[in-house]
Amino acid sequence: MNDQTPILEIKGIGEKTARLFHKLDIDTVGDLLAHYPRDYERFDGPRQIREVVPGETEAVNGTVLAVPNIKKIRNLNIMNVLIRDGSGSMQLTFFNMPYLLKRFQPGKTFVFRGKVQTKGPALIMEQPRVYSSEEYAKFTGRLQPRYALTKGLTNQAIQKAVQKALEDYAFEEEYFPGAILEEMELTGLSEAIREIHLPRDAESARRAHRRLAFEEFFAFLLLLRKNKDLSNSLPNGYPMFETADTVRYIDSLPFRLTAGQKQVWQEIRDDMEGPRCMNRLVQGDVGSGKTIIALLALLMTAANGYQGALMAPTEVLAVQHFESVKRDTEKYKLAFRPVLLVGSMTAKEKKEAYAKIASGEANLIIGTHALIQEKVSYQKLALAVTDEQHRFGVRQRETLAEKGLSPHVLVMSATPIPRTLAIILYGDLKISVIRELPADRLPIKNCVVNTSYRAKAYQFIANQVSQGHQAYVICPQVEEGEMTDLENVADYAEKLRSALPPSVIVAHLHGKMRPAEKNRIMEDFAARNIDVLVSTTVIEVGINVPNATVMMVENAERFGLAQLHQLRGRVGRGDAQSYCIFVSADEKKETMERLEILNHSNDGFHIASEDLKLRGPGDLFGVRQSGDFAFRVGDIYDDSELLKKTSDLVDRLLDQDPDLSLEVHRPLRVHFENTDRNKVDFRTI
Ligand code: ADP
Ligand code: MG
Repeated sequence: MNDQTPILEIKGIGEKTARLFHKLDIDTVGDLLAHYPRDYERFDGPRQIREVVPGETEAVNGTVLAVPNIKKIRNLNIMNVLIRDGSGSMQLTFFNMPYLLKRFQPGKTFVFRGKVQTKGPALIMEQPRVYSSEEYAKFTGRLQPRYALTKGLTNQAIQKAVQKALEDYAFEEEYFPGAILEEMELTGLSEAIREIHLPRDAESARRAHRRLAFEEFFAFLLLLRKNKDLSNSLPNGYPMFETADTVRYIDSLPFRLTAGQKQVWQEIRDDMEGPRCMNRLVQGDVGSGKTIIALLALLMTAANGYQGALMAPTEVLAVQHFESVKRDTEKYKLAFRPVLLVGSMTAKEKKEAYAKIASGEANLIIGTHALIQEKVSYQKLALAVTDEQHRFGVRQRETLAEKGLSPHVLVMSATPIPRTLAIILYGDLKISVIRELPADRLPIKNCVVNTSYRAKAYQFIANQVSQGHQAYVICPQVEEGEMTDLENVADYAEKLRSALPPSVIVAHLHGKMRPAEKNRIMEDFAARNIDVLVSTTVIEVGINVPNATVMMVENAERFGLAQLHQLRGRVGRGDAQSYCIFVSADEKKETMERLEILNHSNDGFHIASEDLKLRGPGDLFGVRQSGDFAFRVGDIYDDSELLKKTSDLVDRLLDQDPDLSLEVHRPLRVHFENTDRNKVDFRTI
């Protein structure tokens, strides 16, 4: 078996299972082995009930005390079981599992594993998993991988498929020279792939992570280096001059540009008027007003008779940009002839859009990935803007640029990263920073609370709504087969409806909805037809509804701080006082300390670095900071040291051997030319 072998050839996988795997984008053995665990679960030996810590997932060895008590509420079957060990007792609750009754005979002993909670003075577990002592002993002391799942495909099924695939897998020969492996302290490739899935222990999982993260960084940086050399040498193919259009637009805005915005706008004009092709990143905290900067650049492009494109990472965001551009175009008589291009449009709508793009009838094209598909051909694309660019891989950014003949490139990002990292990650770009927020912004008021505060929070939301404002409530994504204490958005919205006055309109949104449905809900929210929006993190980036003043985040402990900060950035975008309520279901000291950082700072750069200090680098089992950047294993915060070292290595390597043609580097070149995963085109280096 090799990377290209279809998974159907793995023993035990039939057509039906293969279709389920396909939903996870897994079609080949290579895809499967690159489906790395999200995290690991460690099965420690059972503990005394007296010693368990509320909030932690623990195993206890308990004897059933009495015949379980069963209650029925509508179609819910609730079974309560009291257990005891030598040190104390605990109450277990099972939902809709009546068949367990036969198993739970008084006097029988089992290992119960689940999250410990408290109910008054009592210790409880909901839906714990049940094992016999012998069964549990088999797991003890090992790390069990936990994979991203899809409905119908269990963690166990994935684990088994991986195990089977590994048995017959012909590992690629190591392609990094020994000297590099040694210098960077890396394990071999085959060991890393095996150990990321089936680690012997935490240390070996960490080593596997390091090797795979290194590989991602290495490929990324090679590509970047290529871009850098290329873009530094490109002449300005679309020289522009400033027209009255942008001046008039700025004058008619309901606000004045901040000093930071003015400065960045100046830098962009200089680029587009200057001798070289623009390659610029605009970095500015959430709410700093990056959109208007992009629009000014696009307007200058249109006014000079060219086309500009604005690519957003989600449809919701693309539609929002499009709607607001359309409004501004009419209101201020701007020179835009905008067109929208997103995946959910009908074939006919798309065809019309393609025609307008090809003929030049459209001079501003706004959309998602759809913008870079083959069918789209531009008449004279002179500026490609990507919003929240870190969500796109380098390659996607590159493809948009390739749609034109080296157009100017502008990328916008709110990812808070220290300058040293920015230089590495955006090595091919010049960086502009907007430091301040518009002056009329009141700092967001934050609080970190436990779940007992919910009722109060709802009251607070009702209050804000009665004053004409709107609110978001964020729930973590629910994955099939995941822990049950996670709040599912639909259920949550239902619960919220009954807790709020009937006049408050609650709706919900999640990632799996059809894009058209998502767009409709977002538009309704923006139009104030919805008061409270319960959502997963799909609204995380870019969404701009300045009338929303409350952001409540459930299970805040499950998010990275950088991500929470992005979420918080959805409020405080207008002149009204805004509030952020972080609800933590986990009252451990470290968790609260982490979340407190958010409480004390509204500065994204500061937050990211404080979090890193608190956790220390290389905390493999910590919360991933965010889904930023297209890395699957590597995390720019947690693995920042590795990233820096890899960057130095790549620079040195390419200085010595620019096209990797030396004998020792040949396998490296062959690998990165041919792999699907991290392919690099060496012809242009
Ligand atoms: P982000 O940088 O997060 O993309 P946006 O560009 O969406 O932020 O701007 C957030 C809000 O601030 C928008 O409603 C925008 O109209 C407004 N805004 C932008 N610049 C200013 C400014 N100089 N003064 C006041 N409001 C501004
Ligand atoms: Mg934005």
